[in-house]
Amino acid sequence: MNARAVLAFGITLILFLSGCGERTTTRSPQAAGPSPGASTQPKPTPKPTPKPTTPKPTKAAPLPLRPLPTMLPAGLRRSTGGRAVALTFDDGPDPVWTPKILDQLRQAGAKATFCVIGSRARAHPHLVARIVREGHQLCNHSWRHDLDLGRRPVAEIRADLVRTTRAIQAAVPGVRVPFYRQPGGRWSPEVVAVGRQLGMQPLHWRVDPQDWAKPTASTIRHRVNGTVRPGAIVLLHDGGGDRAATIAACAHLIGDLKRRYGLARLT
Ligand SMILES: [Zn+2]
Repeated sequence: MNARAVLAFGITLILFLSGCGERTTTRSPQAAGPSPGASTQPKPTPKPTPKPTTPKPTKAAPLPLRPLPTMLPAGLRRSTGGRAVALTFDDGPDPVWTPKILDQLRQAGAKATFCVIGSRARAHPHLVARIVREGHQLCNHSWRHDLDLGRRPVAEIRADLVRTTRAIQAAVPGVRVPFYRQPGGRWSPEVVAVGRQLGMQPLHWRVDPQDWAKPTASTIRHRVNGTVRPGAIVLLHDGGGDRAATIAACAHLIGDLKRRYGLARLT
């Protein structure tokens, strides 16, 4: 190899090496990752997301329930405010038992208050309409008789009560629902407050013969007649189970109470 050939080889080698360096320099930013908008570059394969160690809940976990207060909140309605007694019928409307109670009340010329469950009002709107048509009072008794409703978040309480009143008003457009009664009497200050915000007085009772536990008709009658006082609000049931004993008891009770004190529609 002569000197000229050695020089030519040397120059070629330098150009080759500098070209490699230039390509390396221009490629290096791309090696760090695709630049914005570099759609022609193959996208890196995304790493699989590691599986969570706990199962993914399908919806938000319910908030823990507040404890119920050990005493009933103040301000619950327990009396009529006069001498007359008020009968209240809970957990309907029921297609078997509610018409029988309504028949008895009509025959006696007496008015009562019906604490209706929203889902049952939606199922039996004609019975809600009959209750109103025959001059009785309405009370919201929650959508599905949730005994823990008073312990739930305030927004849930409000949604339940609003839904129930809407079902009642779907049966009787524009009807007033001036009372709310908490399922099981398990009141909380929150449920009382929400009811009041929605224009409903908290309706409790003074006399509870526990007809839901299915004592005999004679026991129901004697429990009521033995404990009732002027102005008492009496708790009975026209729904939620076999109410034959309550119906049989009311055949006498309505007359007994009307004669002793008078029967009032709550206002
Ligand atoms: Zn009830």
